[in-house]
Amino acid sequence: MEKLYIYNTLHRTKEEFIPMEAGKAGMYCCGPTVYNFAHIGNLRAYFFEDILKRVLLFNGYKVKHVMNITDVGHLVSDEDEGEDKMEKGANREGKTVWEIAEFYTGAFKEDISLLNILPPTIYCKATDNIKEQIELIKCLFDKGYTYTTNDGIYFDTEKFPEYGKLALLDIEGLEEGKRIAFSDEKKNKTDFALWKFSPKDQKRQMEWESPWGTGFPGWHIECSAMSIKFLGRHFDIHCGGVDHIPIHHTNEIAQAEACTGEKFVNYWLHGEFLIEEKGKMSKSAGEFLRLKTLIDKGYSPLDYRYFLLMTHYRKKIKFSFENLDAARNGFQNLKNKIKEIKSGELKEVKDLSEKANEYIKRFTESINDDLNISEGLALLWEAMKDGELIDSEKVYLANEFDKILGLDLNKVEADTVSDIPAEIIQLAEKRKEAKAAKDFKLADELRQQIKDKGFELLDKKGGEFDIKPL
Ligand code: AMP
Ligand code: ZN
Repeated sequence: MEKLYIYNTLHRTKEEFIPMEAGKAGMYCCGPTVYNFAHIGNLRAYFFEDILKRVLLFNGYKVKHVMNITDVGHLVSDEDEGEDKMEKGANREGKTVWEIAEFYTGAFKEDISLLNILPPTIYCKATDNIKEQIELIKCLFDKGYTYTTNDGIYFDTEKFPEYGKLALLDIEGLEEGKRIAFSDEKKNKTDFALWKFSPKDQKRQMEWESPWGTGFPGWHIECSAMSIKFLGRHFDIHCGGVDHIPIHHTNEIAQAEACTGEKFVNYWLHGEFLIEEKGKMSKSAGEFLRLKTLIDKGYSPLDYRYFLLMTHYRKKIKFSFENLDAARNGFQNLKNKIKEIKSGELKEVKDLSEKANEYIKRFTESINDDLNISEGLALLWEAMKDGELIDSEKVYLANEFDKILGLDLNKVEADTVSDIPAEIIQLAEKRKEAKAAKDFKLADELRQQIKDKGFELLDKKGGEFDIKPL
């Protein structure tokens, strides 16, 4: 097996990946809170995890990939206060929390499938694993890591001396936080809820009995409990977005390691954010960009995937439609190039030339260097233009690299129309209607619009048409 290097947030360095069990990799990725649609920033996080998984598979590992679905307990504020996001979503839509959870879980699965993100081996819902969460809290309670307040059971971070090691939290600042009582209830600023009691005067839609009273789990406990359940007390890889480093993942480590007394996870990987020109992408602001928004504007989901492939996962991406247009053009050019190659004479590839093997080696080195997919994409382009390779080898390499890129390159020749952006097809359909209605002025305008976007319209008999990139 080739050496694979990944950046471990725990040590702030690139490290060789050494699995706990030869040939196998266990990875846990924090999944969506299903109170709303995913925005395109959230989808970047799952895309990064998909690249990680595909790189592991490419290297021959058998991957067990677990993803949670948060359907209870994630409060609006990180300070264990405010409404439960799920209940908020249910009130917004006049539905039950269970209905909201089911609907948005379905929408999430559809989004990731459209983006060619491989589904996890196991999806686990927080509400299906309440027993495991209560058991973990009980373990922490019995070992003296908790205290009880009026509104719940809290983890006392002062009792866990290694608290904050992932985030390299400023210990001085933490000490300060510990001395100043954060609220009447919490002993230290960093303490967090393990179990919240249901309000005395109100019945929650989701609540369960526990040894401490009726209530619901805090958000962080589900990930420690379910990752231990499905991957064991100590496993290989845990990932999520960078926002999870200082609180969520820091708390997951504290809960797991305080109970088991063992190291929890060997490699922590975090994906950087996608930001909008106006700043942070946020659902609370109301309007936000979804994959569907991009589709409605005529982009294909794989245009967005190509856009994401152009930047390393540890760098921020600034989203703009100009940048997405550039990606769409690049992707269209790649498909055109492959189509051109496929129209040559192809034969079965038995033995690869030295040159082709060199490309595979360089590609593997790139992706094994902390998932450098933008370099991998550049190599694909280089190979497609390389006069020393025969067409059959180029097709072989495109399919091989696409195991990571996930751009459906093997389907390129199958359906010519699908390569034309939906927006162009819509314009062409409108022109067909205009012609049928004898509105030739509009028909000409639409033909020009199509041309301006880089496509040529070829009329066929009976009002039908063909579209070709210019
Ligand atoms: P949430 O549903 O809010 O819990 O977030 C789901 C995932 O998306 C988490 O792994 C977050 O870290 C990640 N995430 C949230 N916002 C962004 C963003 N703008 N760019 C990239 N990842 C994000
Ligand atoms: Zn989590």
